[in-house]
Amino acid sequence: MQRRKRLWQKRRSPINGVGLFAALPIRAGTPIIEFKGRVISWEEGALMLLRGANHVIKFDANHDLDARPQWSPAGHVNHGCFPNCAIKKKRGGLWLISMRPIEQGEELLIDYDFDLDEEFGPCRCGHPRCRGLMLRKKDWPKLRRLMSKVSKQYSDKYKTV
Ligand SMILES: [Zn+2]
Repeated sequence: MQRRKRLWQKRRSPINGVGLFAALPIRAGTPIIEFKGRVISWEEGALMLLRGANHVIKFDANHDLDARPQWSPAGHVNHGCFPNCAIKKKRGGLWLISMRPIEQGEELLIDYDFDLDEEFGPCRCGHPRCRGLMLRKKDWPKLRRLMSKVSKQYSDKYKTV
């Protein structure tokens, strides 16, 4: 059997540090690279996220995967608000899979899907409709409610007579 050509390459990313880019045109639904790492308890994963790690991936209901780049280059994948890839389970491992056709040279991006309890930071994905924060879509209504509550408390407290 012929060895399949490597579909990704590591390069400096305009979004953040080093990223992964398509070395060739990639068809939708293609497994690109496996996330390798340490399977850890979700408690340990949550702690790592709180300390600012961004390479902790949900593995199953009770476990996370510590997929930092020292284990596999897949850990370099950056966040994008409109990602072209996703992480899926395949042959017992977690794989970076293309969700749509990707052009050669495009940066490979996933949605980091951080929730409000985790350490989410500003997003620099550069998409015209970038959400501005690396926070999962379904938590935005919660964040808006929280923010309007805070600003109401603030204006009540500092209301001028
Ligand atoms: Zn963004």
